[in-house]
Amino acid sequence: MSFDSIAPAATALPEAALHNFEHELVGSALLPRHNAYAAACASFERSVAHRPALVVKAGASEDVSAAVRFAGDHGLGVAVQSSGHGACVPADDSGLLLSTRELRGVRVHPGTRWARVHAGARWVDVLNATSRFGLAPLHCGALNSSAVSGLLGGGIGPLSRRYGQTADHVEEIRVVTADGSRLVTSAREDSGLFWGLRGGRGQLGVVTSATLELVPVPVVYGGTLTFDPADTQKVLTRYAQWVADVPDTVASRLSLRRLPALSAALRHANDPLVLQITVLDVEPGPTSEALLSPLLGAAPIVDGSLDRMPYAAAARDWDEPGQPVATLSRALVLRRLGKEALGAIASFAKLRGGHHFSLTLHHMGGALARRAVLPGAAGYFPGAEFALRTAVHLDHTQGVRAALQAQEALRTELAPWVYPKGSPGFLSGLDLGPAAARMAFGPSWDALRALKDLYDPTDMFRYEPSLNAAYGH
Ligand SMILES: Cc1cc2nc3c(=O)[nH]c(=O)nc-3n(C[C@H](O)[C@H](O)[C@H](O)COP(=O)(O)OP(=O)(O)OC[C@H]3O[C@@H](n4cnc5c(N)ncnc54)[C@H](O)[C@@H]3O)c2cc1C
Repeated sequence: MSFDSIAPAATALPEAALHNFEHELVGSALLPRHNAYAAACASFERSVAHRPALVVKAGASEDVSAAVRFAGDHGLGVAVQSSGHGACVPADDSGLLLSTRELRGVRVHPGTRWARVHAGARWVDVLNATSRFGLAPLHCGALNSSAVSGLLGGGIGPLSRRYGQTADHVEEIRVVTADGSRLVTSAREDSGLFWGLRGGRGQLGVVTSATLELVPVPVVYGGTLTFDPADTQKVLTRYAQWVADVPDTVASRLSLRRLPALSAALRHANDPLVLQITVLDVEPGPTSEALLSPLLGAAPIVDGSLDRMPYAAAARDWDEPGQPVATLSRALVLRRLGKEALGAIASFAKLRGGHHFSLTLHHMGGALARRAVLPGAAGYFPGAEFALRTAVHLDHTQGVRAALQAQEALRTELAPWVYPKGSPGFLSGLDLGPAAARMAFGPSWDALRALKDLYDPTDMFRYEPSLNAAYGH
């Protein structure tokens, strides 16, 4: 057991109860006065500042139920954080922040193609454990984010067009509910809760582990192509035409970023703006080269090429920049884009003023458009062609106001192409109202509310953008 000793209480929490609680933990409990408190609160998304009454750094799954019971006994809400890429609602002084970031265990069963992942296991941990068997999980883009958070939000990544969302390929989820019960949920046991967890975000309980399906994907054909940003309109137009006919095995994403952290080699001479298409055929064959070659002719290639590579290398290509950032982000699921929509996206990138931003247009369709065999609350997206995510980076103060205005203007301009449902995992701190949550959860909304009434009637898990507003907290 390792724990920080609790200093005389500077909080309303009774000291004796804190001491007893601390002795129950494998991990540690931290009050605001402790040196390690700030680091334990820190999120990858630095625009969100958690300031809870107490942080519990879970050292084992048992700490999760102990923390939930302690919170229940003392009237605290519970916020959960793994790496904090998806941090939206800060925990306040009526909350306990449960940090799962040290629970990074992964156990692979290559024969049955399942991996059991603990609450804090990141996609990079899962990929490292599975790639030597030629297997991969249905992971999200950011490899530093946790697999459990991915499945709670749906989970869209480079394998989704071929196989579907993370949430729809789960065998079992272990969860601690608001009353401290530890439940093993699956299609056979507590199947309603099992459904709701897979896309309902973290509002129904704290997941301690999940068993995820793995898919065989040893080698792929693809790569990242970098273009001159002056060719944005041309490349966007070619890309939007090209995706219309590609088979489900081909995944792709177009990104535009102006970020200080990007390698100087990738920046255009006068403007550190980078335009890239990342593409891969997950079942490479004789036709792969011909399938992907139209992208090479979209405009002159500044850097990059297409080749066969191990899947683990392709997954790193899809990864997001690895340093913690402060951003305000927006996401939209979109129908097939018209000429005006492509023009609006290209104009967003043209804004002058040196503002730092990222924009990603992720091709959807394929298995994402079809009902899964074992569907979860994240739903599916027939007729949706892209997910668009924009983020304005706040660290570089120059031009931030103009960039935020441009981000909102882009949403307005794209309104005619907006799909009637979003992805719960993409909700951000700008989406705290009920309209955004209803849109993200779409047809699952009523059933999720019924599950919330059943499993968390006092709204213990209230640090979520979604049902916060709906419950009037
Ligand atoms: C730059 C960027 C790129 C992204 N790209 C993609 C993408 O390609 N595809 C995609 O699907 N999503 C994407 N997302 C969304 C991302 O997958 C989610 O935000 C993900 O949940 C973040 O994982 P995390 O481990 O950092 O979670 P955290 O930020 O630690 O937690 C996110 C949410 O999950 C809840 N939560 C975390 N762990 C638990 C648990 N054990 N039990 C209950 N609730 C829990 C938290 O309460 C919190 O609300 C992206 C986000 C960012 C910022």
